[in-house]
Amino acid sequence: STPAAIAAGLSAGARRGLLMKGGVVLETLGKVTAIAFDKTGTLTVGKPVVTDVVAVGRPARDVLSLASALEKGSSHPLALAILDRAKADKAPVPPAFDANAVLGEGVEGKVGGEAVFLGSPQAAGRLAPLGEEHLAAIATLNASGKTVSVVLARDAVAGYIAMRDEARPDARGALASMKAAGIRTVMLTGDNRTTAEAVTGGLGIEARAELLPQDKQRIVRELQAEGLVVAKVGDGINDAPALAAADIGIAMGGGADVALETADAAVLHGRVRDVPDMIALSRATMGNIR
Ligand code: ADP
Ligand code: MG
Repeated sequence: STPAAIAAGLSAGARRGLLMKGGVVLETLGKVTAIAFDKTGTLTVGKPVVTDVVAVGRPARDVLSLASALEKGSSHPLALAILDRAKADKAPVPPAFDANAVLGEGVEGKVGGEAVFLGSPQAAGRLAPLGEEHLAAIATLNASGKTVSVVLARDAVAGYIAMRDEARPDARGALASMKAAGIRTVMLTGDNRTTAEAVTGGLGIEARAELLPQDKQRIVRELQAEGLVVAKVGDGINDAPALAAADIGIAMGGGADVALETADAAVLHGRVRDVPDMIALSRATMGNIR
């Protein structure tokens, strides 16, 4: 019967790490015509590594100290990269006061009596002029696919930190198979446009960059207004509005820490191809019922 076929589809998915919250989710997945992907941790491995530390008027270690002080309480992938590098370079991590995440932009707080901001060049540039020379250096780092976060201390550039994250090895093939299945794909990211294009250049997916969480939600709604059934795939951490707006929210992660509460479905093994596989499973299950 129909419920039996759906139950079989759900349990076949679960055995492969493709979790769907019930029959309605399974049915909707089969109708998806557009998929919006996050970049960090979704199309990329999500384990960025610091490649460059540029200091302005103070030692590079001090730039790492200011940055890591702010990042100590943060779970952002870039925070982990900065804390790792501070440890490797034996940069002391002083206490930070009133540290706050600024969603999609960075972190701010007080370190050693200085007001410090760490975040995207766009956000930093709204707080202080970055200067031609630094902007050019940041653009060069972005062009090689690196994400740059700028450290401001007392509203002046103290330095910047470049990080590199690799595309997931199966992303290219998985995106090609979605295209072949007639599904439109787009990557949504808060990261810089040049960096985003350096990542997607090798992947064959449209890139929308420099987005705040509410921009990601707006783009999901625009796709729906075109008549598309939209799935949003991401870690869900700073993308709750877009996940909520999507017809289906899919959490992607490696293991038990997946943000399953806010999502309709989850792929547990951190493979991009699990997304088209889950859609294919849904289409096959619904096909069997009709
Ligand atoms: P994504 O869309 O890849 O998840 P986010 O929206 O989290 O990116 O962040 C966008 C940009 O803001 C990052 O590329 C980075 O420059 C900056 N940023 C955000 N959070 C942090 C943080 N905790 N530390 C450093 N930079 C940050
Ligand atoms: Mg994110």
